Amino acid sequence: MQKITVLGATGSIGSSTLKVVEANPEQYKVVALAAHTNVEKMTALCLCWQPAYAAMADHDAAQQLRKRLASKGLATEVLAGEEGLCQLASLPEVDMVMAAVVGAAGLSSTMAAVKAGKRVLLANKEALVMSGQFFIDAVYQYGAELLPIDSEHNAIFQCLPQAVQHTPGRCDLHASGVSKILLTGSGGPFRYREPQSLANVSVEEAVAHPNWSMGPKISVDSATMMNKGLEYIEARWLFNAKPEQLEVVIHPQSVIHSMVQMCDGSVLAQLGTPDMCTPIAHAMGYPERVHASVAPLDFTQIGEFTFMAPDARRYPCLSLAIAACEQGQAATTSLNAANEQAVAAFLAGKIGFMDIARINEQVLTQSSLPTPTSLDCLFELDRIARITANEQIAKVTP
Ligand code: NAD
Ligand code: MG
Repeated sequence: MQKITVLGATGSIGSSTLKVVEANPEQYKVVALAAHTNVEKMTALCLCWQPAYAAMADHDAAQQLRKRLASKGLATEVLAGEEGLCQLASLPEVDMVMAAVVGAAGLSSTMAAVKAGKRVLLANKEALVMSGQFFIDAVYQYGAELLPIDSEHNAIFQCLPQAVQHTPGRCDLHASGVSKILLTGSGGPFRYREPQSLANVSVEEAVAHPNWSMGPKISVDSATMMNKGLEYIEARWLFNAKPEQLEVVIHPQSVIHSMVQMCDGSVLAQLGTPDMCTPIAHAMGYPERVHASVAPLDFTQIGEFTFMAPDARRYPCLSLAIAACEQGQAATTSLNAANEQAVAAFLAGKIGFMDIARINEQVLTQSSLPTPTSLDCLFELDRIARITANEQIAKVTP
C-alpha cells in the first residue's frame, strides 16, 4: 500500500489524482489532503477519503474546516498555512506527494516533499520554472524521486531511455542517442483566430480549451501559449535539454502528447486520450502500470493528425518564455511571477487578453536580473516582479 499526500486536492489535477486512487483502492491510500480556501470542497473530500490530515493554506479556511469536520465527528487533524502544507508534504509515513498547487505558491511545499526524499509527482510546473537548478540539485541532495505529471513531460519521459529517466536534470540526451524533444501543444482556443482580433476576447472564450479540462490559470496560459513556454523551461530542466534539442510543434488534436527524435531518425511518441489521469497513473505506478479509468483511444474517431509551427505574432508569450530561458534563472523567475499577476488580472476583468504578453514583456525589460544564489533570492525576484507587474496592470484602462 503506497501512501499519498495530495497538495492542491480541490483543483483539477487534485481530483484526477483522487480518481486514480479510486481506480486502484488496493494500492494507494490517501493520508493527507491540502488546498487553499475552498472549505466546502475540502469538507466533502475529507468525508469521502477520511485522511489522517488536511491543511488549508488560508488560516481562516483552516479554522472553518476544523469546525466542520469536528461537527461531523471526523478525526482528521487540520493544519494551517504554508507551514501546514509543508508538514503534510514531509510526513514520515507518506511515500509520494502530488504537487498540484497552482503557481509559485506551490514552491515551498513541493520543495518540502523533495527535501523529505519523497516520490514527487510534479504537476506544479511553476515551481520548477521558478527555481530550476536549485530544484534539480535538491532532488539529488535529498534523494527524492522526480516524476513529471505534465502530459508532455510525462510523454517525453515515457519515450526516453531508462538511463535518462533515472537521472532527471542531469542526463546527457546526446550521449543517449536523443537528437531532439518535440514538445506538442494544441495551440489553445485561438489557434485559428486572426491575431488582430485577440485584443477583445472574453475570459469565457480564453478558458474554453478545445481538448483539455483544466484550472483557470493554466487554461489562460494555454490560450496565450505561455503554458508551452513554461513547459519549454520545464523540459529544459527535467531533461537537461539545450535550446537546439527543444522544438515546439502545434498538434491541434492533443492526442500525441509529445515526441522524442533519435539520432537514427526514429521518432517515439506517447499517445492517449487527453485525460490527465493517464500521466498521473503512470507516475504513481512507475515502473509498473496501474488503471487510470480513461477511455481507450479510438483512432477511427480521431480520423487525422495535423501539425503546424507556432506563429510568433499570435503567441508572443511563447517567444518571451523561450528568450527568458536563454537569459537564465532570474528572467524565468520574473517572467513566471509577472505572468501569474497578469493572468489573475485578466481573469478579474482588469486587463485585456493581449495585455498579458505586454505586461510580461515590460516586467522582463524593466527588471534588473542578478544571478540568484539562493532560494531566498528567487522569492525576492518573484516579489519584485509582481510589484512591477501590478504597477503596469494599474495603468491599463479596461
Ligand atoms: P486548479 O486551479 O484547478 O487547482 C489549484 C489547486 O491549488 C487548488 O486545490 C487550490 O486550492 C490550490 N492552491 C491555489 N493557490 C494556493 C495557495 N496559495 N496555497 C496552497 N494551495 C493553493 O489548478 P490545476 O489545473 O489543477 O493545476 C495545478 C497545477 O498543475 C498547475 O501548476 C498547473 O500548471 C499544473 N498542470 C495542470 C494540468 C491540468 O490539466 N489541469 C495539466 C498539467 C499541469
Ligand atoms: Mg502540459
